[in-house]
Amino acid sequence: MDEQKKTVTTNFIRHIIDDDQQTGKFGNKVHTRFPPEPNGYLHIGHAKSICLNFGIARDYKGLCNLRFDDTNPHKENIEFVQSIQDDVRWLGFDWGDRLFFSSDYFEQLYGFAVELINKKLAYVCDLSAEETREYRGTLKEAGRESPYRNRTVEENLSLLAAMKAGEFEDGSRVLRAKIDMSSPNMNMRDPTLYRIRHGVIHHQTGEEWCIYPMYDFTHPISDALEGITHSLCTLEFEDHRSLYDWVLDNISIDCHPQQIEFSRLNLQYTVLSKRKLIQLIDEKIVDGWDDPRMPTIAGLRRRGYTPSSIREFADRIGVTKSENSIEMGVLESCIREDLEANAPRRLAVLNPLKVIIENYADDQHEDLNAPNHPKDEEMGRRQMPFSREIYIDHADFRESANRKYKRLVTEGEVRLRNAYVIKCESVIKDDKGEIIELRCRYDKETLGTNPVGRKVRGVIHWVSAGHAVKAEVRLYDRLFTQPTPDGSKNENFLDYVNPGSLETVKDAMVEPSLKDAKKGDRFQFEREGYFNVESTASDIDGLVFNRIVTLRDSWAKIEQRASSNTSNK
Ligand code: ATP
Ligand code: MG
Repeated sequence: MDEQKKTVTTNFIRHIIDDDQQTGKFGNKVHTRFPPEPNGYLHIGHAKSICLNFGIARDYKGLCNLRFDDTNPHKENIEFVQSIQDDVRWLGFDWGDRLFFSSDYFEQLYGFAVELINKKLAYVCDLSAEETREYRGTLKEAGRESPYRNRTVEENLSLLAAMKAGEFEDGSRVLRAKIDMSSPNMNMRDPTLYRIRHGVIHHQTGEEWCIYPMYDFTHPISDALEGITHSLCTLEFEDHRSLYDWVLDNISIDCHPQQIEFSRLNLQYTVLSKRKLIQLIDEKIVDGWDDPRMPTIAGLRRRGYTPSSIREFADRIGVTKSENSIEMGVLESCIREDLEANAPRRLAVLNPLKVIIENYADDQHEDLNAPNHPKDEEMGRRQMPFSREIYIDHADFRESANRKYKRLVTEGEVRLRNAYVIKCESVIKDDKGEIIELRCRYDKETLGTNPVGRKVRGVIHWVSAGHAVKAEVRLYDRLFTQPTPDGSKNENFLDYVNPGSLETVKDAMVEPSLKDAKKGDRFQFEREGYFNVESTASDIDGLVFNRIVTLRDSWAKIEQRASSNTSNK
């Protein structure tokens, strides 16, 4: 994939690594990890993190692990474990034999908890969740020490062992670090290290454990056990860094990765939180994690995005520490540019209007030969049958229109793409006055060239009625009508769901070569957009296409108009 890869844009994290290479801080080693929690499918925000972590490992000749951060068994499951691996692989990255689970380390983590107790740096606390909150204090006020804080080492050891042995109920006790209840950093006010969770079957460890370590305890230790050098995470963990360092400074482990935070991706017109994505599924607003409107990797893949377009997107948005919200147009232009160069062209009529070519023999047809790509001869050519009855799109005909209308009008001429010039002679309507058919004549001399001096309004697409294949076409649009549907806490993002995010065209007519299209194939339907095959002609559902993206960014125009309207006021 990367043979002619351009150099990846540098960023502040790469600068830090460059410096570390200079000083030999980690012995010139670079080892990163991507640590998803298997509680949902990956989304485009995760793709940013994947491209960052695996990209750095690739460019510095280092390694990147895939590690499941699986300490919350009630929300996690094996379907998510599988889908995450599929998605990372599909994006083009490889973790070799370094697939890990935090649960692989449960025994070691427990040992480190015992070590902290022995060093009088951890204790079992019996305060209820509510009391704990109350004791913690606020940003303005120091917290108070738990009455259980000064238990003896022996008592703590036996209580932790009893917690592990299942002798206490959920929520009755936790293990806490003993740090500083008056720290200005709330995360340092004796944070919880272990909690009790009965009755859940962990997807990796089954019923072996009924106490589970917290993220802030698990993560630094897992990183250190794997010999990670740079632990890259999103900004919300900035305030947790002191705890990350505290854990590693106080246990017997000889590796101390450096945590570096970057800002998460926010993408306009969608939401990127698993909780919200789950809500969209539960409320049946979308069909599932891989609905082509979802910002998930599985959804984007089904929609027709290519792995390289997503990697390109990750590169274009860059990595910084500032909060940002990326326009959907940035993602769309990545796939548009990829497909502009690489997708074969086809003709598809979404809203067919029958046209009879009166001077073309009834019992004849001819195979015209059309290039698959206007600029790339290597993509080959295909046959397109032409005959007396064809379809054009309803939108390409008006009874009369001014010169700006570059399509067919009564008594006007238009070129059929890759075929002849036709002239409309008459219009046939039904009893309601709706246009149902056009009568046209074709000019035999115009195949491929316009005779000198001939004024033709424009070029339109068409298919031969007797040869075309019927297809369903799904026109996807943005899932939300607002750029930041979850921008405000007081509003419900579901109020901004775009009711027109899916329009299904049942009776499109597409050129016959598409009969052989395979699932996942991508095409440009000329003048319509880029599409991929959702199901093939031989599948039960017949031929179905997803629109990946339109040919132009029509939303940019709307947004420009909206903003110029406001600025004119
Ligand atoms: P969500 O908030 O969507 O549920 P999460 O952060 O809980 O996501 P994890 O599975 O814990 O999801 O994420 C795995 C990694 O991906 C973490 O390192 C996390 O920081 C990173 N990540 C998650 N969302 C984004 C995002 N929007 N942009 C960049 N990185 C992200
Ligand atoms: Mg998380």
